[in-house]
Amino acid sequence: MPEKRTDMSLVKIKNMTVKLEGHVALTNVSMQISQGEIVTIVGPNGSGKSTLLRTIVGAIQPTSGIVNITDSCKIGYVPQKLHIDATLPITVKRFLCLPKAQNSKNIKSILKRVGSPDIENRQMANLSGGQFQRVLLARAILNEPDLLILDEATQGLDQMGAASFYRLVENLRSTLGCAILMVSHELHVVMSASDRVICLNGHVCCHGTPDIVASDPEYHALFGSGTQGALALYRHEHNHTHNHDGTCDHDRQYEDA
Ligand code: ADP
Ligand code: MG
Repeated sequence: MPEKRTDMSLVKIKNMTVKLEGHVALTNVSMQISQGEIVTIVGPNGSGKSTLLRTIVGAIQPTSGIVNITDSCKIGYVPQKLHIDATLPITVKRFLCLPKAQNSKNIKSILKRVGSPDIENRQMANLSGGQFQRVLLARAILNEPDLLILDEATQGLDQMGAASFYRLVENLRSTLGCAILMVSHELHVVMSASDRVICLNGHVCCHGTPDIVASDPEYHALFGSGTQGALALYRHEHNHTHNHDGTCDHDRQYEDA
C-alpha cells in the first residue's frame, strides 16, 4: 500500500555538525522547513548562517548528522557575496543564461517580474546595488523554485531599497507559492514577515515564532546589549527594558496589551 503523504517538509536537518578546515562552524543543528513558510535566520557575524544555507544548497557537506532535502524540491539561491569584477564584461542577459541557456522572452519576463525591466543588455558591473540584487533574485527564480534561499540579500541597500526588495520577495512567495529561507538583519522583516525565526550562534540558540524568539533570554544575550542595536530596537520599544548590566526586564503592560 502506498504511504500516505502528509509530510509537507522540504528540508529536514538532524543533529548536523559542520567543520570547515578543522574549524567547527555548526554543532548539532536540527531544523526543518515546510512548504510555503518563511523562515528567517538571525545571528551574529560568524555564527554559521551562511554555512547552514550552503549545506542546504549542497555546496558544503556536513561532517556528521543528516541533511534531507525532498527529492522534488527545487532550490533557488541568492548567495551573500557575489563580486563581479568590473574588468570582466558580462551582460545581464548572459549572466541569466548561466548555467542554463534561456530564451530572450524568458529573460525579459523574469526581469519584469523582479521589477527591473529592460536591463538585459546592461553590464553587470554597472548596475546599481538594487538592480544587481534583483538580477540575482531573477536568476534564483528562473527554475520556479519550491524553496528560495536568500543570504543577506539586502546587504548594501538603503532602507527604502531593502523594504522594496522584501515586498518583492513576499509578492514572489505568493505567486510562486515557494517557501523562503533567509538571513536578515532587519528586525522589522523578522517580526512582520516570518512564520518562524531561528537564532543561531554555532548552534540553534532558540527558535519558534518571532514573538517566542524575541522573548528568549538567549536571543537577548546575543542581541540585547546594543551592539546589534537595530535587532534589539524593535522589542525594546514594545516589551522589555534594558538594565545597566545589559540584562532585560519584560514589561508586562506591553505584552498584555
Ligand atoms: P555567518 O554567515 O553567520 O557570518 P559563516 O557561516 O560565514 O558565518 O561562518 C561561520 C564560521 O565558519 C566563521 O567563524 C567563519 O570564519 C568560518 N568559516 C567559514 N567558511 C570557512 C572556510 N571555508 N574555512 C574555515 N572556516 C570557515
Ligand atoms: Mg553570512
